[in-house]
Amino acid sequence: MVDYHLHTKLCGHACGEMEEYLAAVARQGLTEVGFADHLPLYFLPPSERDPGLAMAAEDLPVYVEAVRKLEGDSPVRVKLGIEADYVPGWENRLAALLASFPFDYILGSVHFIDGWGFDNPAEMEGYRRYDNKTLYRRYFTLVQQAALSGLFDIIAHPDLIKKFGFPPPDGLIPLYEETAAAFKKAGICMEINTAGLRAPAAEIYPSREFLHICCRHGVLVTLGSDAHRPADAGAGLPEAVALIKEAGYREVAVFKKRKRELLDFL
Ligand code: ZN
Ligand code: FE
Ligand code: FE
Ligand code: ZN
Repeated sequence: MVDYHLHTKLCGHACGEMEEYLAAVARQGLTEVGFADHLPLYFLPPSERDPGLAMAAEDLPVYVEAVRKLEGDSPVRVKLGIEADYVPGWENRLAALLASFPFDYILGSVHFIDGWGFDNPAEMEGYRRYDNKTLYRRYFTLVQQAALSGLFDIIAHPDLIKKFGFPPPDGLIPLYEETAAAFKKAGICMEINTAGLRAPAAEIYPSREFLHICCRHGVLVTLGSDAHRPADAGAGLPEAVALIKEAGYREVAVFKKRKRELLDFL
């Protein structure tokens, strides 16, 4: 099994040493992991970047070097990933930034809706400004745009909008169908992210219903714990594997220098 979503303390809201994350996954028998820490907030002027949300620009080369160094001497295969925010209008800037480093894969994340950090507990009052249906439509439109931008290899936590456990609107199936079709068209892989189990939503991202629709559309998947501390590395992966097996998956995607391969897990 693989865990493609590990953070590091460079992002300002995770803790522990990278070696501790690796030791934790090695104990669980994982064969391959990827660090995917938060890319600097490239779409904001440096003075407006919250140092508690993502790594500082000057830390990006430090991060890349640190992961590369681990690749050499770890018993587990270590890949160099990054978690990049998708913000419409900033595609060219992001593409240039991503091209400057030898990433194995890029996780694309929607964490912002019109500048609102909807998954940030400090910004929860923002939910009052939207009715549920409009909010879900806006979120999934951004996720589809992210997928179709061609900037990313993997869509991270594909239904993160459910994080705080507010009841979702009815009638989501057409939105799931449309989003799955966009993933398939983009040729992008979807992350099965177990952090939802540790959030108020108390369920994996994506939901079973959304996952089954994606499987029917032929969308590939990979796995991530989104660990922000060593104790969470690999957390929930057995549940994630059970979920994708039940949906009909027999393999997960892995990446090297942004080329995809499929790994059988049976
Ligand atoms: Zn984070
Ligand atoms: Fe994220
Ligand atoms: Fe993350
Ligand atoms: Zn994340």
